[in-house]
Amino acid sequence: MAKLKFYYGAMNCGKSTLLLQRAYNYEERGMHIATFKPAVDTKGDNKIVSRIGAERTVDHLLTATDNFYTLVKENYFARQCLLIDEAQFLQAEQVDQALRVASSFNIRVECYGLRTDYLTHSFPGSRRLLELADELIEMESRCSCGNKATLQARFRKQGIGHFEMILDGEGPQVEIDNQENICYISYCPKCYLEKKEEAIQKKLSKE
Ligand SMILES: [Zn+2]
Repeated sequence: MAKLKFYYGAMNCGKSTLLLQRAYNYEERGMHIATFKPAVDTKGDNKIVSRIGAERTVDHLLTATDNFYTLVKENYFARQCLLIDEAQFLQAEQVDQALRVASSFNIRVECYGLRTDYLTHSFPGSRRLLELADELIEMESRCSCGNKATLQARFRKQGIGHFEMILDGEGPQVEIDNQENICYISYCPKCYLEKKEEAIQKKLSKE
């Protein structure tokens, strides 16, 4: 039986770069593959974009109502591997459908995504993947202090060159970074909690 795999990590750990690299390697070996990403990730439109500049147009942008099992059955049945970027944005039932694809059709499904959101809670897609995936592969990135980064914080621009950390109740779970107003920084738990405390104190002093 083919496997459902989840490559997970914090923001900027190189998930999309690894996906593109693996896609390239599979095709070089003569394998037939297809790539997907949830349409909610508007960065790069219908492309998977890596920070080092590589990109690839996806075969299908997944909407929230797409049935992944039916989609594969009707369009991608002859592929040997399916790669999904930003898999944290999948619907929970789409992850169940991906498991069915791997087990019924014997097609490998590789999902790449974040484990948690900017408030340290899981996304519906990543939660289901952590429950269902045959293999969980953690991708490491570093906090500026040198420790392993496992969390990320969201910042919003509040003036020229000044960004403020977004706290609980101050924003939606999904907000795509655009390098202008919204950005994300990966932290180890210790630095994350320190930054959060700092932001809370700053806000209290303003009131
Ligand atoms: Zn740190």
